[in-house]
Amino acid sequence: MQSALAEQAVVFLGLLGLLVGSFLNVVIYRLPKMMERQWAADGAQASGQAAPPLEPFNLVVPRSTCPHCAAGIAWYDNIPLISYSLLRGRCRHCQASIGLRYPMVELGTALLFAFCGWRWGLGAAAMAWCAWMAGMLSLALIDWDSTLLPDVIVLPLLWLGLIGANLQWTGVSLEQALWGAVAGYLSLWSVYWIFKIVTGKEGMGYGDFKLLACLGAWFGWQALVPIILMSSVMGAVVGMVLKLKQGLREGGVLPFGPFLVSAGLACLFANPLGFTLRVP
Ligand SMILES: [Zn+2]
Repeated sequence: MQSALAEQAVVFLGLLGLLVGSFLNVVIYRLPKMMERQWAADGAQASGQAAPPLEPFNLVVPRSTCPHCAAGIAWYDNIPLISYSLLRGRCRHCQASIGLRYPMVELGTALLFAFCGWRWGLGAAAMAWCAWMAGMLSLALIDWDSTLLPDVIVLPLLWLGLIGANLQWTGVSLEQALWGAVAGYLSLWSVYWIFKIVTGKEGMGYGDFKLLACLGAWFGWQALVPIILMSSVMGAVVGMVLKLKQGLREGGVLPFGPFLVSAGLACLFANPLGFTLRVP
């Protein structure tokens, strides 16, 4: 009985993950553009100019089109994983290849949601962790693409972590979560200012502080040192590899968010069966 329920949770949340992953592709692609448009409009307004008239652009409007030929994408060409396989990764109209990232995000979200079903069954805790997974995946890829970590994703997840601790969804106490959020923010904030005073450069952004605060809320303050160590090592290794392969973007900027997210996932998977983190 117990295992049948667990299987149902894995299948149900896995399928839900495919659909959510399809939506995350839209979020990852459009949210940074929406933010840039908003900044441009705010800037124009602040300098007293009339904002240039723009076509509506949000997560719903306009409908998805092929970036190559601009043909609309029909619903039957937008079925997670299946459409990509049937079309062999090419646009139906112009045969331009579709990025492998789209099906990978769908598959990745499905696997992460299925993990939540396996670990927490079907219930409020599983749903909260699915939201965490979806948010983390989006943040990692948006930061990688645009070096932005949108508040509209980070801050609700920070709140959800504190609420989840109080409702015992996350395995840490509210006290551990609260101080995890505070210390997570302040630790990177201090590093930022020391680095800036010593070198005159900005090593990371405020989004990184908020993201670590969010991870501190979900995993408790005890997880902060392992998360910072893991993300720094991963960032250094990837940074060196990209530098050797001349793959760094202009200015040598490497966003830190994807490594914080990876370290958060590692924290979760390192001890999936006895997740409760104890104070040493
Ligand atoms: Zn096309």
